Amino acid sequence: MKKNWFYLLVTVLFGMSLASNVYGKEKLRVVSSFSILGDMVHQIAGNEVHSDTLVGPNGDTHVFKPSPFDAEKVASANVLIINGLEFEGWIERLQESSEFSGKLVIATSGIDKIRMEEEEHHDEHGKDEHHDEHEEEHHDEHGKDDHHDGDHAFEWAGAFKLSAGEYVWTFAKVDGDYADPKMKMVILASKLDGEAAIEEREEMAEGLIKSHGAIDRNHGEALTPNDGNAYQLAFDSNRNVTEFRVMIKKEGVYTFFTEHMPFEFEADEHFFKNTEKQDIEPIAQEPDAGHHHHHHGEFDPHGWNSIANAKIYVENIRKALVEAVPAKASIFNKNADAYLKKLNALEKTLKSEIKQIPKDRRKVITAHDAFGYLGRDFGLEFMAPQGQSTESEASAKDVARIIKLIREHKIKAVFVESISDPRLIEQIARETGAVVGGKLYPGALSEPDGPASTYLKLMEHNVRTIIKALK
Ligand SMILES: [Zn+2]
Repeated sequence: MKKNWFYLLVTVLFGMSLASNVYGKEKLRVVSSFSILGDMVHQIAGNEVHSDTLVGPNGDTHVFKPSPFDAEKVASANVLIINGLEFEGWIERLQESSEFSGKLVIATSGIDKIRMEEEEHHDEHGKDEHHDEHEEEHHDEHGKDDHHDGDHAFEWAGAFKLSAGEYVWTFAKVDGDYADPKMKMVILASKLDGEAAIEEREEMAEGLIKSHGAIDRNHGEALTPNDGNAYQLAFDSNRNVTEFRVMIKKEGVYTFFTEHMPFEFEADEHFFKNTEKQDIEPIAQEPDAGHHHHHHGEFDPHGWNSIANAKIYVENIRKALVEAVPAKASIFNKNADAYLKKLNALEKTLKSEIKQIPKDRRKVITAHDAFGYLGRDFGLEFMAPQGQSTESEASAKDVARIIKLIREHKIKAVFVESISDPRLIEQIARETGAVVGGKLYPGALSEPDGPASTYLKLMEHNVRTIIKALK
């Protein structure tokens, strides 16, 4: 009797564990690196797989930092789907740390890739290459002060390590005109180094620029570090270059805050030099110029922004799922075919809508360069101060370049992005009078109640937002 009870108990327990195996582990575990891939898995597999995403809605995959929880997800995955093309710079380490042993699917396999351009205009500082490209007159709308009612009193800050002596700060006419007829500048000594120096003094600088008691300075006059006042610099319209002598009595770190970008006043000489005419470069500046040293992959990773590519993503995912669970092939195939039909229909509709916009108006400014594929497919020209990753901030020079382009090409609209700080684009809009045409979703879905909760909705939202602003 005792034996029978024991036997029965063992049988029940064994049966339970078998059952939990069947219901808990039968479903294929699929982990996608970011929300757009997660949506594609959902469209193809519905609830037939257990699907998880690492970078969720509104997340920025470029700068994602996986947690131990993410490593657990990957460790238990049968299939890991990534974009590839170095979009997920963190994925290899995550695979290693989680000892991932499943199947890796690279969604961009076989897409028509865009090779990344060499960005020569970022390589050097103080050169004139971007001035020479554009010869049209485009400074006619300058000279107004109305773009300084925003929250920032200064547009640019730089910290310099200077030895005692005299330096020359120049403001040159670009294409026949000064970017502005005058501007305020604050020079403050700092006990700190690098970026910390700027942070230490920026509040004081802001206060001085906003206060009314600025000291007037004209061509050839001297500027010294001054904790009590801002300088009001007047640019001499009879000269091509207005210069000011910066006098430093004691070696140290000095921060300079300017109401306008110094790069806007660069013709063919660097704006700051010593008396031997050698360029003096900042040890830190804001907006940051870290961009110069940024390395990126060989190809533009934002492949999903082409619907034609997205169809290849879908084929890659379909194939992987069918191989992993052949028993469900018919379900996956049926769903994938229906999804491809919707993608085709949307592509066709949006392409015909774009055609209603005159070709010379199809120029779009976004924060980071994520829409190269959309541009190629849809005949739109995208420009961005921030480059192809959100990892690096736009340099002051990148921003100045975009501002020039907007003025030259009379670009009407600029767009903020769901994953980038809107302030840079808002500043550019203020500076140029372009309107902010709306928010685009470059590389992540919105929350479920947002306008880009699926890949199809994301593409529709992005393209229609652009069309509306360009019309
Ligand atoms: Zn991106």
